[in-house]
Amino acid sequence: MAVVDYKKLGLVNTRDMFKRAIGGGYAIPAFNFNNLEQLQAIITASSELKSPVILQVSKGARKYANQTLLRYLAEGAVQYAKELGCHHPEIVLHLDHGDSFETCKSCVDFGFSSVMIDGSALPYEENIALTKKVVEYAHQYDVTVEAELGVLAGVEDEVASEVSHYTKPEEVVDFSTRTGCDSLAISIGTSHGAYKFTPEQCTRDPKTGRLVPPPLAFDVLAAIEKQLPGFPIVLHGSSSVPQEYVDIINEHGGKLPNAVGIPEDQLRRAAKSAVCKINIDSDSRLAFTAGVRQTFDEHPEYFDPRQYCGKAREYMVDLYKHKITDVLGSDGKLVNCD
Ligand SMILES: [Zn+2]
Repeated sequence: MAVVDYKKLGLVNTRDMFKRAIGGGYAIPAFNFNNLEQLQAIITASSELKSPVILQVSKGARKYANQTLLRYLAEGAVQYAKELGCHHPEIVLHLDHGDSFETCKSCVDFGFSSVMIDGSALPYEENIALTKKVVEYAHQYDVTVEAELGVLAGVEDEVASEVSHYTKPEEVVDFSTRTGCDSLAISIGTSHGAYKFTPEQCTRDPKTGRLVPPPLAFDVLAAIEKQLPGFPIVLHGSSSVPQEYVDIINEHGGKLPNAVGIPEDQLRRAAKSAVCKINIDSDSRLAFTAGVRQTFDEHPEYFDPRQYCGKAREYMVDLYKHKITDVLGSDGKLVNCD
C-alpha cells in the first residue's frame, strides 16, 4: 500500500510543538478518542482555545471504532477546526501504546503523524532494538516517535501492570541516543485508569474524607531532566479523576467508590518542566458517563442517543477546556492563532 502523507491531510507531527512547549513552560494535551462525540468535544475545545492538540488512538480504540474510520475522522477534524474559526490548527494523529513494529508501520503508512512504540515491558536491550527499528522507519516519513522507559502501574485498555518501576535516570541518555526517539514516556508515579491508587496507598483529607494519593516522584523527573536537558518528556496515566463527575455518576445510579487520580496541582507543576505531553483518557470517560447517567436518570422518557450523547459531549467540552487552560496552559499557543 502506498504511504499516505499526513501533511496532505493537514496534520502535523509533534517536533515543533514540543520544542515550543518546553521553552514556554506548558504541555500539549493528548486526548484519547473512540467515537464522534469525543472527537467533536476535543476539537471544539482546542479550536476555541487555540491550543495544539494530540488525538490519540489506542489499541482498544482501533478495535472498537476501526482504524480506517478513526483516521478519516481525524482528517475530518482538521476541516472541522477550520470551520470553527481556527484557521491554522495543529493537530497530531498519534498511535498510543503501539505494541509492535508492524502496528507502528501500518499507522505510519496510513497517515498517522506520530506513533508510540511501547517496549517498556521488554528487557532494556530489546526495548532499544525495537524502538530503533520503529524510529528508522517512521523518520523516513517525518513521523515522530514516542518511546517508553520504566513501567506504569494500572490498567488502560490492554496495557496492564500490577506494579510500577520508576524510570532510571542513568539510562535515559543511552536510550534516547541509541534509539533516536523524539520523546520519552517516563514513570514517576502516574498510573493508568480511574483507580490509580488503592486506599492503602493514600491518606485521607480530614475535611472531605476523600483519598489523597501519594505525590509524584519529582526528584526522579528532575534527575531525568538533568541528564537530558530540553528533551521532550511524556506523562501517561495523568487523569485527575475529577470528583464532580464521580459524584454525578454516583448520584445517578453509578458505583465508583474510591476512584482516585493525580491531583491537578501536581500536573501543573509537571507541565512547567520538560514534560511537554500529558495523556488524559479516564477523565473524558468519566465526563461522558456522568452526562449519560444524569440524562437517563432525569429523563427516563428519552430514547434518542443525541439527547444523552449531547449532554455527554457538553461535559467533555467543559472538561477539555478546563484541562487546556487551567492545567496544561496550552491555550493560545498555536503558531498562528488567526
Ligand atoms: Zn498510556
